[in-house]
Amino acid sequence: MISEKLSKVIRDVPDFPKPGILFKDITPVLANPELSAEVSQTFFDYWSTKNVEGVVGIESRGFIYGLQLAQQLGVPFIPVRKAGKLPYQTIKHSYDLEYGSAEIEIHVDAITKGQRVLIHDDLLATGGTALAAAELIRKIGGEVIGYSFLVELSFLKGQERLKGSGEVHSLVTF
Ligand code: AMP
Repeated sequence: MISEKLSKVIRDVPDFPKPGILFKDITPVLANPELSAEVSQTFFDYWSTKNVEGVVGIESRGFIYGLQLAQQLGVPFIPVRKAGKLPYQTIKHSYDLEYGSAEIEIHVDAITKGQRVLIHDDLLATGGTALAAAELIRKIGGEVIGYSFLVELSFLKGQERLKGSGEVHSLVTF
């Protein structure tokens, strides 16, 4: 089972980036080419039947498997970035994080009207980041059909916050 493999390999880093946060470090997954390929395949198997028309990846760890998934599905990859990084005209959204607050943005022409996209990130904590990305997508006319994560921290109840706004798929839950 991929969830068991991931739970063994993902590294817990206490008190990063702030005291009290147990950071889930996915770099050991990236360092393991067989497991990393299995991660990509599992994402593809899940989403390939769902008529996805674009993958929105959230900076920066959402870019890693997000781009691979978009390429496997044969659909555009669309970056959502921290404010001030995207060069063309953008729209912004501010939101609260498990640690601190943040502002993200997307290019205004990144998505066509009615385009069916999924949102991908490495980890679902409170759901604030994913909801902020969904907000941006809807503002520029896209349709969010789901959310994809490697890791879900169920005690932070992100699933509940995302409920009703698309299906949520994660590979391992802690
Ligand atoms: P949230 O908006 O609360 O769902 O937080 C999700 C975002 O913050 C993702 O982009 C994660 O990469 C990052 N994040 C939040 N908590 C953690 C954690 N405990 N370990 C690793 N990344 C985290």
